[in-house]
Amino acid sequence: MTDTPSIVRRMPFPDSSSRAVVTPLQPSVVYSSDTPDALDAQYEGRAQGYTYAREGHPNADVLARKIDQLEGVTPQMGEGFITGSGMAAISAVMLGLCRAGDHVLGGDQLYGRSLRMMHEDLPALGITTSVADPTNADAFAAAMRPDTKLVLLEVVSNPTLRVADIEEIAKLCRDRGVLLVIDNTFTTPRGFRAFDFGADVVVHSVTKLLAGHSDVTLGYVAARTPQMRDAMLLKSVTWGLTPSPFDCWLAERGLYSFELRFDRAQDNAARLADALALHPKVEKVLYPGRTDHPDHNRVRALVGDNAGNMVSFILRGERAETNAFVGALDNVAFAPTLGDIGTTLSQPATSSHRALSVQDRLALGMPEGFFRISVGVEDAELLIAEFTKALDAV
Ligand SMILES: *Cc1c(COP(=O)(O)O)cnc(C)c1O
Repeated sequence: MTDTPSIVRRMPFPDSSSRAVVTPLQPSVVYSSDTPDALDAQYEGRAQGYTYAREGHPNADVLARKIDQLEGVTPQMGEGFITGSGMAAISAVMLGLCRAGDHVLGGDQLYGRSLRMMHEDLPALGITTSVADPTNADAFAAAMRPDTKLVLLEVVSNPTLRVADIEEIAKLCRDRGVLLVIDNTFTTPRGFRAFDFGADVVVHSVTKLLAGHSDVTLGYVAARTPQMRDAMLLKSVTWGLTPSPFDCWLAERGLYSFELRFDRAQDNAARLADALALHPKVEKVLYPGRTDHPDHNRVRALVGDNAGNMVSFILRGERAETNAFVGALDNVAFAPTLGDIGTTLSQPATSSHRALSVQDRLALGMPEGFFRISVGVEDAELLIAEFTKALDAV
């Protein structure tokens, strides 16, 4: 026996009359209360406090309040919450706002996993789904049904970078009492403030540009009303879609430089797109900021000068040419993600769209030589030189 306090007991944090500048990381799963009355007060909403990390924790709330600022979410609206991934955010939307018998209409070029959820997982829950081309508001109107509960859209499609007719579709949703959910991952709130254009719910894969360093997977959901937010948050807590405190802490750290990174990457993207368009090995460049983009006028109305950091292009040739090009790109990661500080390159034929037949990919405008670039914050001249060298090697 010894009278040393047991090392099993936790020690109080040392007092300090000065304060830490950086947001503390709080990994605690549980929170203790002083009395049963105090716990009642918390559960009944008379006092603020945390109880169990799956139901909420401070690092998630700090991150959510910061993204709320970017999205223009006020306390009168449904303040945002964080989920363990972008797909968890979309799951919370579907579980919270739809029930068996409802119909969900999506854009036909949504993020691959979102499409998979629409085609396989929602029908298993009794929710019917279909997709339509969101660049064509008439086609979209025709695809709406009396039981349509919710429309899920991305502003800029992946990877062909077509721009949805959000203004017309938002009107349609308002007229018919259908909820409009915008996945704002690609455009980011720097480019597009979805609530200003009539969105009822905004979701993000925070994994991408917002966190920006390819070291966390997280999502975000906010709503026009507290009722909608509460319905989705409840499902997030019950289905365990909650994020890790450390991931939230990392993402908050990344978010401090989000606007700087976005502006720099977008500037680089515009310059790289113009340089690629001049190269003889390049058949076509798709960048919403270029005047030759098919939806260029819509781009101006929706995002103004913020055409984003994503550039797609078609390299002339087949597998021999694409192997030569990618093999000669020394410092650009050939990896199917986006929004990293560094430039990454992906090829739909071997990643996101590999399950499709060659014919189906061609019908979508994606031959073997179709590449998507997520432009990073490197020096623009260096980036252009690297791509030029790799194209010259083909
Ligand atoms: C990546 C992505 C998602 C999914 O996010 P995760 O964090 O990977 O789960 C959803 N939508 C879009 C547009 C994305 O790019």
